[in-house]
Amino acid sequence: MVHKNNTEARQSIIDACLWMNSSGLNQGTSGNISLRSDEGALITPSSMAYEDMVAEDIMLLPGDGLSGEAIGPNRPSSEWRFHADIYNERDDVHAVVHTHSIYATALSMLGRDIPACHYMIGIFGGDSIRCAEYAHYGSAELSANALVALKDRTGCLLGTHGAIACGSDLKQALWRAGELEALSQQYHLACQLGDPKILTKQQMGEVRDRMKTGYGVWPKKRSGKA
Ligand code: 13P
Ligand code: ZN
Repeated sequence: MVHKNNTEARQSIIDACLWMNSSGLNQGTSGNISLRSDEGALITPSSMAYEDMVAEDIMLLPGDGLSGEAIGPNRPSSEWRFHADIYNERDDVHAVVHTHSIYATALSMLGRDIPACHYMIGIFGGDSIRCAEYAHYGSAELSANALVALKDRTGCLLGTHGAIACGSDLKQALWRAGELEALSQQYHLACQLGDPKILTKQQMGEVRDRMKTGYGVWPKKRSGKA
């Protein structure tokens, strides 16, 4: 779904940010959110308290967004590059949520992929959630590393940093961000107790086949709102 550069789309980003923090998925001004728009991508401003944001604060990265120029009264998120790169690389992605959620970030500090420790790994499109190589926040290198980790996936860890979740809309990207955090917590807990059993390639293939029927894709509400 392509959103117009309108107040409703901008407000939906702010609502998503407020939910991300009030639900405990993120904290402070960490993280950022963007939404594909018919003029480019709408993205949160850099280091602004989410509760202070109004629709006009959301920045527009026009066109392919790769110039780094942004329209609006603020600086765009320092991570504008990986948001723009993901939209340019991936036609299936229309919303990107980046968090520093606690368990996903803790696992990212180990610099390891999350294996198929639960079938819900399948909602990210593969047999694992990859961890991107560390690079400094806001760098082109971080974006390049994230794209590698996101190949054929809709979520990844960012080494010693946090997580990215993508969706065909904001609701799906937020849902994946929450599931990534839950999986990270579950995997962490299981590792405290022993060696988690890892589902086989075949089992994960079967899981993804089941999910092809539309797992994680919701019908429109009667009101017409997503
Ligand atoms: P911004 O406030 O610039 O979006 O930065 C937050 C962040 O998570 C950087 O990785
Ligand atoms: Zn970050």
